[in-house]
Amino acid sequence: MSTGKINVKTENIFPVIKKFLYSDQEIFLRELISNAVDASQKIKALVSLGKANCELGDLTIEVRVDKDSKTLSVIDHGIGMSAEEVDKYINQIAFSSAEEFVEKYKGTDAANIIGHFGLGFYSAFMVSKLVEINTLSYQENAKAVHWTCDGSTEFSIEEAEKSDRGTEIILHIDEESEEFLDESRIVGLLKKYCRFLPVPIRCGNEKVWEKPEGKDKEEEVEKPRIINNTNPLWKQQPSALGDEDYKKFYRELYPMTFEEPLFQIHLNVDYPFNLTGILYFPKVKNQMELQKNKVQLYCNQVFITDQLDGIIPEFMMLLHGVIDSPDIPLNVSRSYLQSDANVKKISNHITKKVAEKLDEMFRNDREDFEKKWDDIKVFIEYGSITDEKFYEKAQKFFLLKNTEGKYFTLDEYKTHIETLQKDKDGNLIYLYAADVNTQHIYISAAKEKGYDVLLMDGFLDTHFINMLEQKLEKSRFTRVDADIIDKLIPKDETEISKLSDSEKENLKNLFENHIEKEKFTIQIENLSESDLPVMITQNEFMRRYQDMGRISGQPSFGNFEHYNLIVNGNHQLASQLLNEGDEEKKNTLTQQLVDLALLSQNILTGEKLSEFVKRSAELLIE
Ligand code: ADP
Repeated sequence: MSTGKINVKTENIFPVIKKFLYSDQEIFLRELISNAVDASQKIKALVSLGKANCELGDLTIEVRVDKDSKTLSVIDHGIGMSAEEVDKYINQIAFSSAEEFVEKYKGTDAANIIGHFGLGFYSAFMVSKLVEINTLSYQENAKAVHWTCDGSTEFSIEEAEKSDRGTEIILHIDEESEEFLDESRIVGLLKKYCRFLPVPIRCGNEKVWEKPEGKDKEEEVEKPRIINNTNPLWKQQPSALGDEDYKKFYRELYPMTFEEPLFQIHLNVDYPFNLTGILYFPKVKNQMELQKNKVQLYCNQVFITDQLDGIIPEFMMLLHGVIDSPDIPLNVSRSYLQSDANVKKISNHITKKVAEKLDEMFRNDREDFEKKWDDIKVFIEYGSITDEKFYEKAQKFFLLKNTEGKYFTLDEYKTHIETLQKDKDGNLIYLYAADVNTQHIYISAAKEKGYDVLLMDGFLDTHFINMLEQKLEKSRFTRVDADIIDKLIPKDETEISKLSDSEKENLKNLFENHIEKEKFTIQIENLSESDLPVMITQNEFMRRYQDMGRISGQPSFGNFEHYNLIVNGNHQLASQLLNEGDEEKKNTLTQQLVDLALLSQNILTGEKLSEFVKRSAELLIE
């Protein structure tokens, strides 16, 4: 037996490892398992290359909890280490990188970093008072080695009795960390970090119901508990997979989610960097259901994090699924990641791939794409609003849906409305409704004139419209109930006025007595006889401003509430009002017309609504 002193620059880093890494202690297990997996894959490679003269055997890694001896062991059948290798890798390399890590991140937000950074073998000291290594190298005539270290800088190394190849790391768990002696806690951690590792990992046994051979009834039997799926779907060839496989994997990823995903995109990139993954488009019915942090990031099948702010494009955080890349530099802090050029490239590439896939879906089967559109629109809008590059691609397959349920691409729609829907400055006017029920009267009025009305009832539509107006040349969006004069070259502009100027003035005065002056402006317009007699409209920009205020939760925007009361001077009722000799009747009729207009805008409520109902009934009496 020999002892030695680890060459330290920093005096006693062990207390530091223990104390300052406290917040994320659990990752020690991930680190040790990753080493075991590496060692197992190395032996596999050596054997397949004919460079190791041994049987591969069962490579299952075992995690063993022993409450009595207060130890937790990670046992692999990988390449093992010789005495020289233990000295080189454990005493020197691993130690100095742990030391470097501690030095570098002292005083920074440790919790943020550790999740991404592999502290490596020495993270074992976060939870142990003593660590032992028993290892036997795969090399011929190798001698087994036993190494121990008690968390001081002293270690001992001696020959050991170990007949099977591989490494056993035995952690003597310290008093404060006894939670790691609870098997169910360990199973939980393994499921979190190791669920998709490529080498089987076993922890204890589990009871399962099975039909033993020769019997016709299921029985409860105890079997080794294997934690992981060693061949997760994202690592498989997309061409060999069907829709059912993806759905099954979705359930495996999110056992608590019952809704099926809409569809998925399988990423499989090997140039200019390595990236695999599956992104699912979830079914969301409303804003509340949009959830970030559902995408999981893996590095060679090791779970790293699901906090992907700044790492993948924002809108993609609303998707579900996994991304796996050995090329994302995980050994650095999040703020570094966010500004890292490589990460940016990867992130841009994911955006590109997702856009390409959507474009392909659109081109291959438009009918099917249209069926999915209402559900995916929110993602595409979000992507377009937050990511210029994505919008550039998305404009080819972005669909506008009209109130009749027909879908158009942006180009198609432009052609569709080009002849009829222009204002006097030659701007294309996109008419839209936000609610087919409450705006029905305006929609039908527009349709009667031969205009097309889009349905924009999504919760990002107001934002999206603002964006489109900036992108599309000479184009404006106008809600169907917006001010008529704002809207289109009124065909009505040529409409002759049936009323003289003084009659118009009289009409205006009459209506002024029946509305709240601060809230309404009255306009007498020469519309066609078949148009409505009185209408309420709102300035498009004012209204949008209010909508944005509502979306962002600032109700003070609502103070700008202002409407136009449009009286159709050419309607038969206008002349009738002017000619009415009975003052009382005249007033009742005017109020009735105002209320009808308010009602169709959904703003007649409370006492006023009751009065209207009462008055209407009275008017019916013959
Ligand atoms: P890293 O894994 O990042 O290289 P570690 O500190 O975790 O750093 O480990 C240092 C080295 O020790 C590894 O690179 C490997 O050579 C060796 N090692 C650690 N664990 C094992 C193991 N279970 N089997 C074989 N070698 C191991």
